[in-house]
Amino acid sequence: ALHPVRRALISVSDKSGLIDLAKALTGRGIELLSTGGSAKMLREAGLEVRDVAEITGFPEMMDGRVKTLHPAVHGGLLALRDDAAHVEAMNTHNIGAIDLLIVNLYPFEETVAKGGDYDDCIENIDIGGPAMIRAGAKNHKFVNVVVDTADYQPLLDELEANDGATSYAFRQKLALTAYARTGAYDAAVSAWMTGALAEVAPRRRAFAGTLAQTLRYGENPHQTAAFYTDGSNRPGLANAVQVQGKELSYNNINDTDAAFELVSEFLPANGPACAIIKHANPCGVARGQTLREAYMRAFDCDRTSAFGGIIALNETLDEETAAEISEIFTEVIIAPGASDAAKALLASKKNLRLLLTPGLADPTTAGLMFKQVSGGFLVQDRDNGHIDMDDLRVVTKRQPSEKEMADMLFAWKVAKHVKSNAIVYVKDGATVGVGAGQMSRVDSCRIAAQKSRDMAEAMGLAEPLTIGSVVASDAFFPFADGLLTAAEAGATAVIQPGGSMRDQAVIDAADEAGLAMVLTGMRHFRH
Ligand code: 5GP
Repeated sequence: ALHPVRRALISVSDKSGLIDLAKALTGRGIELLSTGGSAKMLREAGLEVRDVAEITGFPEMMDGRVKTLHPAVHGGLLALRDDAAHVEAMNTHNIGAIDLLIVNLYPFEETVAKGGDYDDCIENIDIGGPAMIRAGAKNHKFVNVVVDTADYQPLLDELEANDGATSYAFRQKLALTAYARTGAYDAAVSAWMTGALAEVAPRRRAFAGTLAQTLRYGENPHQTAAFYTDGSNRPGLANAVQVQGKELSYNNINDTDAAFELVSEFLPANGPACAIIKHANPCGVARGQTLREAYMRAFDCDRTSAFGGIIALNETLDEETAAEISEIFTEVIIAPGASDAAKALLASKKNLRLLLTPGLADPTTAGLMFKQVSGGFLVQDRDNGHIDMDDLRVVTKRQPSEKEMADMLFAWKVAKHVKSNAIVYVKDGATVGVGAGQMSRVDSCRIAAQKSRDMAEAMGLAEPLTIGSVVASDAFFPFADGLLTAAEAGATAVIQPGGSMRDQAVIDAADEAGLAMVLTGMRHFRH
């Protein structure tokens, strides 16, 4: 299974580390073949290289669209060295075996990320590179395919350990990386095209991600896990910079994403906002005059659950807020920036992870969501639906006050980010009770109210904060019971989608209880 490496073909767009690698290869007596730009660079470094054009008998043509697509190359990659007919074909057609392929592809993903125009993106779809990678990887019984500059040193180590040869196991591992790369590359092209032809998404596209990080474990210690990025470049976790703290865990990533997506609903132009997340559900969301106040008001919604939580902020973290957050144990803070003083203050908190993002995410952007089910996955558009004042329909005798209306819109934004059945009580731009993930809506109403009563008791308040609040429901009330529970807890206004068969009974109950109620016409299930 050890196979010697005698000839290498090098064709790379990312030329970092190339010279050192090529020197080490020629130092082992390995012959180099290469394409235009790569060959030029190697020659300039004083290395001896043969042009691929010389062995194909064709010049590189059509702006590089056709360079290596030729039997002299593909025969050299695909021929089975232990098959007499293949060897005979190589001899007849004067095809030399290629044992090592060093290829990385035209920077398609980078071109898309940089906002390249349509033609620019099209031109950056590599054709010959993936063809060679797939050919060499198919023939990993004999051929080594290196697609990642991170594998240059391991390759040299392998050659060193085996006197210029590589093992089958090594080549097999390279092949796996190679197919992951070509798969992800075509999926990136597919994703980009779906973006350009939005009306066919999500029904026709390929999915793949790029491995960003292997994780210590998954949701539980007995599950292995990894984090893949999709190249979409949306501000958030995937492109956040971690300033301090231990490596993120699977649950951290999941919760931090939920926290950041939620806080991104609150435009900084309308003032500071904070979201605290536990187990992917918010246990406090608030605006404030200052960021510190926003945090404290979010914290007051459910101080018990906030312990060990994940905090997302919609503004640069300042020193005062950092000091306040430091009062209890927090797993992660994510924000679009932090002041030097805030960073310095948190530096001693070794277990606190601080992540800084390039801005907030835009909740209205389109995208796809995946959910794994046995035997496949479900794909749907991201829930980027939002409502304006014009969409709201007041259905009760009582009109909501301006303050109630503002709180209802706040509660509605939060409810979108709470697992169904979601019930969110809000007062003065802060959640005061969140009921999440219950199988019946009335239970979510009760649990949220009970938590608020518990908080009032713990904080020594005269009455629960739900008194004088408004309530949002992510989907319609099937019966009046949930609505009446909210009214008993002190809610004075209700926002909900409507659309139930019993809407009229629910509206009548609201009128009887003196509530104001608006219907959104849009539902926000989240499971
Ligand atoms: P170079 O800088 O050496 O001129 O070009 C290297 C790049 O060309 C690599 O990214 C490689 O994948 C790509 N490439 C190699 N052969 C072909 C081909 O026949 N067609 C296309 N479109 N790209 C190729």
